[in-house]
Amino acid sequence: MTRRPPAVRRQTGPLGRRRADLGPPVSARREIAELPAPRRAPVWLFDLDNTLHDTSTAIFPEISRLMTAYIVRRLGYSPADADRLRRELWQRYGATLLGLVREHGVDAAEFLREAHAFDDLAALIVPQRGLAAALRRLPGRKILFTNGPRAYAEALLFHLGIDRHFQRCVAVEQMTLHGQLRPKPSRPMLRALLARERVDPRRCVLVEDSLPNLVAARALGMSTVLMTAHLPKHMHRRATWAREKITSIGILQRKISRF
Ligand SMILES: [Mg+2]
Repeated sequence: MTRRPPAVRRQTGPLGRRRADLGPPVSARREIAELPAPRRAPVWLFDLDNTLHDTSTAIFPEISRLMTAYIVRRLGYSPADADRLRRELWQRYGATLLGLVREHGVDAAEFLREAHAFDDLAALIVPQRGLAAALRRLPGRKILFTNGPRAYAEALLFHLGIDRHFQRCVAVEQMTLHGQLRPKPSRPMLRALLARERVDPRRCVLVEDSLPNLVAARALGMSTVLMTAHLPKHMHRRATWAREKITSIGILQRKISRF
């Protein structure tokens, strides 16, 4: 019986260069350089909340309620003070979780679990129309990149019917450096993620509704797409630096030549 040779996986480094192969001889390089570079599909990093679905109407109010209830229970604040603390920490740190861990010694895993303990998550989801078809048509590797916890992100991908379109889910539990939580918009974390995924930032597109997260991505050389569907106009009007502004994921395919 003839055995087929094992498939050779192409090994690429951070800049798409073959690691074990320094390329063709020098004499051949000029010819290659004169050929137009083949277009490669981008690598997409997709935020989740208010990017792939509308969180503002039902899920965020419920998460806020659960976070406040947690602060009341664990730190002994009154409901009004707990609500104020939640908002302050969110503004100061960009994530309530980070402030609670750093300033109040809260256990991150416990907080994430209790702040996302929905009775019926599926009933709260407001999906974007045509989302699964839009992701299916869009060429390129797709990675979910969310400051939410993994269990919540995976449940949402499942309920939205889009889990099969993502090669990987990078949730807040994976956003650590030297044992410290570094959620978006941490630039060192983003740099580490790109290195781990072996992606040149210039090939990478971040699709997000958060301006600080996009600013961090742009500073590292990534392309930026601002999802404006759930943002007030005054918040996105001045973001003229964003490569594209979109109101639905379906629009990306028409703009693919821009990336
Ligand atoms: Mg978001």
